[in-house]
Amino acid sequence: MTHLTVYYNQYYQTLSKMTDIFFNSPNWQKELASAVGDVATLYELLDLPLPSQYHAPKKFPLRVPHAFIAKMKKGDPNDPLLLQVLPDIAETLPVAGYTTDPLDENNHNPIKGLIHKYQSRALITVTGACAVHCRYCFRQHFDYGANLPNGEDVRQICDYISNDKNINEVLLSGGDPLNINNRRFNEWILSLSNIHHIKTIRIHTRMPAILPSRIDDELLAILADCPKNIVMVLHINHANEIDDVLAKKCQQLKNSGVVLLNQSVLLKGVNDDVETLCQLSHRLFDIGVIPYYLHILDKVAGSAHFDLPIERAIEIYWQLLEKLSGYLVPKLVQEIAGEPYKVPIDVYQFQRCT
Ligand code: SF4
Repeated sequence: MTHLTVYYNQYYQTLSKMTDIFFNSPNWQKELASAVGDVATLYELLDLPLPSQYHAPKKFPLRVPHAFIAKMKKGDPNDPLLLQVLPDIAETLPVAGYTTDPLDENNHNPIKGLIHKYQSRALITVTGACAVHCRYCFRQHFDYGANLPNGEDVRQICDYISNDKNINEVLLSGGDPLNINNRRFNEWILSLSNIHHIKTIRIHTRMPAILPSRIDDELLAILADCPKNIVMVLHINHANEIDDVLAKKCQQLKNSGVVLLNQSVLLKGVNDDVETLCQLSHRLFDIGVIPYYLHILDKVAGSAHFDLPIERAIEIYWQLLEKLSGYLVPKLVQEIAGEPYKVPIDVYQFQRCT
């Protein structure tokens, strides 16, 4: 074959792959393929003037689908949804105490694709891909290349879980486990459903809030057919992420037997005040989601600008306790490397400032 023939073959293969994505993929995959990946386009869509200097990292770049951009307020550079996805130059500054593996996951990774830190729970990194790149993500430096389970790895993961009867719950995580297609997702559900001592499959995902079209009829049927308990933990940080479309998807998930919980991360500039967190809890409850955890930020390199002093976090939490009914108050927790569970913060240890 001449170089020209090779070139044309490659060209037609790429073209046919793109055509296939465009015409034969479900809508959510088309939306995923058109996610915004450059800062200039994002500023333009939000009617914001492009600053003379901005940060555009090559590793863990900007990534955000149009469905999430549509929930941001145009013309507001401090929009709380925008701040969660916009790379900030502060990410490049090394800060003492912020590391690439703050939860010591590398030392709890017995086989490819599986993290086993807690006695009764094991976590599978089914994919390294996400619809959105959250700038505070504690796995932004994770070695997904060495941890993407395929074929034989899936069997080994299931064998590992089958051989440890202490494990009764499996977390599908990543990346975002709903970033894979329904066929692959169903394979995981079927494989795990065959393990007798597994009672619950927990799915940690940002997809319903970021790309609600991902919750399609086929996925709902897979979830409804699963013989295990299905818990879905949505990672919503601000009430503005919740709209009628998400509310409808949550109702469909509940109709399919899925238990819906939420966990948020306390983020400076995004949700670090009591009114914002109260609104979030109320909105979550309105759409049938229990506000479950409020996380202190994991100290991952590149995220220090989102952190706030623990005393401030505690003060906000005291105010939440005063303003909300108990069932609307998420548990304030922190993951500490080496601890056998998420550590609840003991607010009574701290003196109130007001
Ligand atoms: S969706 Fe989750 S895993 Fe993906 S970047 Fe955001 S926080 Fe990280």
